[in-house]
This record gives sequence, structure tokens and C-alpha cells, in this order.
Amino acid sequence: MSERVEKLCMELSLTAVAHHYATLADEAVKKKRSYIEYLEQVLSAEAALRGERSRQMLIRLATFPAVKTLEQFDFEAAPGAPKARLQELAGLAFVERRENVILLGPSGTGKTHLAIALGVRAAERGYKVRFITAADLVLQLEKARREGRFEQYLRRAILGPRLLIVDEIGYLPLKKDQSDLFFQVVAKRYEQGSMVLTSNLSFGDWEQTFDGNAALTSAMLDRLLHHAHVIQIRGDSYRLRQARQSGLIGGTVKRETH
Ligand code: ADP
Ligand code: MG
Repeated sequence: MSERVEKLCMELSLTAVAHHYATLADEAVKKKRSYIEYLEQVLSAEAALRGERSRQMLIRLATFPAVKTLEQFDFEAAPGAPKARLQELAGLAFVERRENVILLGPSGTGKTHLAIALGVRAAERGYKVRFITAADLVLQLEKARREGRFEQYLRRAILGPRLLIVDEIGYLPLKKDQSDLFFQVVAKRYEQGSMVLTSNLSFGDWEQTFDGNAALTSAMLDRLLHHAHVIQIRGDSYRLRQARQSGLIGGTVKRETH
């Protein structure tokens, strides 16, 4: 009989049922569970496995540079990071409300870590997430346009994800054309879906990144900030502090420029 059960499980792709049905059946006999209780347990095992697989898939599809979680973020070591606000954001109401999160602060203060952590939470919640650096985003937009599939790219890659994370705005100055492309991303997502953005520059300096175009920058910030949570992180680079603590470098290292 068990062979037939296992064959049927394979046919129906019921991996967890195949794995657990026998143990759960023994347990059900011992604990005098009803048939329906047993069926529920077997189906729950299958549902749990599928849920886990789909979360793993969403995390893979998000293309995070590394998987980082809020639990791994040491708030003690980052007194300049507003813990309560970040924990509140991790509840993801901002995604439901299609609001943006903008993480600002010097290099090494955990912006990317926190952006990924919010993205991981969202993927675990079942949301489609996409992580990309501003520089890569612009390269992809240019490529899509060259290949005559710009609209398709906007629809799929920009509007597709429930949460779009754009990391490192401001590290690389964009040319006029590239600034226009970036603006289109912001315009497309405006009031359509959440973005998490990170930048080492304060808003007043964003113009430098966008080809000195004041009109474009203010039109973009206008849209971004309309429904946004701006999180300013203060403090020193976590990386530099760790290196200092381990004696790798002295205490007078110049702050990185980005
Ligand atoms: P940023 O994007 O602001 O330059 P990162 O998020 O890349 O900084 O952080 C640099 C490194 O230090 C990463 O490996 C990150 O995981 C780690 N890090 C930064 N801040 C913390 C923190 N408070 N607790 C744990 N790890 C941290
Ligand atoms: Mg970063």
C-alpha cells in the first residue's frame, strides 16, 4: 500500500505528504486522532513546504547581493539608526500603502543591509521584490531601449515587483540621458508601488547625481517624497569600526567618500 501511496504522491507532486504521511499515521493511531485531523496534518505539512519554497524562490528572484535580516542588524552598534521606526517599517504597512522608504546616511552605516532586510521581510510575506543598484538599473534601461524593448522592461522589471529597491543613488553621477531614464522609473512607480531607495547624499545634493538638472531632480523628489518615510542614519562606518576594533587599522583613518 505504501508504495502505491508514494507513487500517487509523486504523480501529484506531494513531496511533504510522501515524507510525512506514515509517521503522522502512526502518531494519529497512538493519539486517537480522527481521519479528518490526520488529513489536516498531512495537508498542513504540504502547505508549509510549499510556503517555504515560494519564499525561497521570491528571495532568489529578488537578486539581493546577500541575504541580510533585521535580526542580524545590531542596533547597539548603530545608535544613529532609528530602531523603532525601522521596526515599524518591517511590519510592511508601507508596502500595502504604496509608500516609499528612503535611507540616507554615510557609507557603511547599514543602508544596504536595512534595505535588503526590508526586502527579505517582504519576500517572506509573499511579495515580489526586486533589488538593483541605481547604476545597474540605468545600464539595464539603456540596454532595453537599445534593443527596442523599453516599454516591456518598464512593465516587467519596474512595475512588476511589489517592492522595488534601488540601492546607491549618488555613488555614480548619471549623464543627462541616464537621468531622464531614471526619472521615468520614479514616474512610473509613483503611486503604483513602493520603492526603497538608499543614498549617501542628502536631498540637497541629489542634483549633482542627476546631471545638475535642478528641474528634473525636484520633479523626481516631489514624486518620491509625496508618500515617503525618510530615515536618516547617522554615525560611523560599521566596517571601519570593526576593522579598527580588530586592530587592522589605526584610529585616524579618513572617512570613505562613499
Ligand atoms: P551602507 O550601505 O550604508 O554603505 P552596508 O549596509 O553595506 O552599509 O553595511 C556595511 C557592512 O556592515 C555590511 O556587511 C552590513 O551587513 C554590516 N553592518 C552595517 N551596520 C551594521 C549593524 N548595525 N549591525 C550588523 N551589521 C552591520
Ligand atoms: Mg550600500
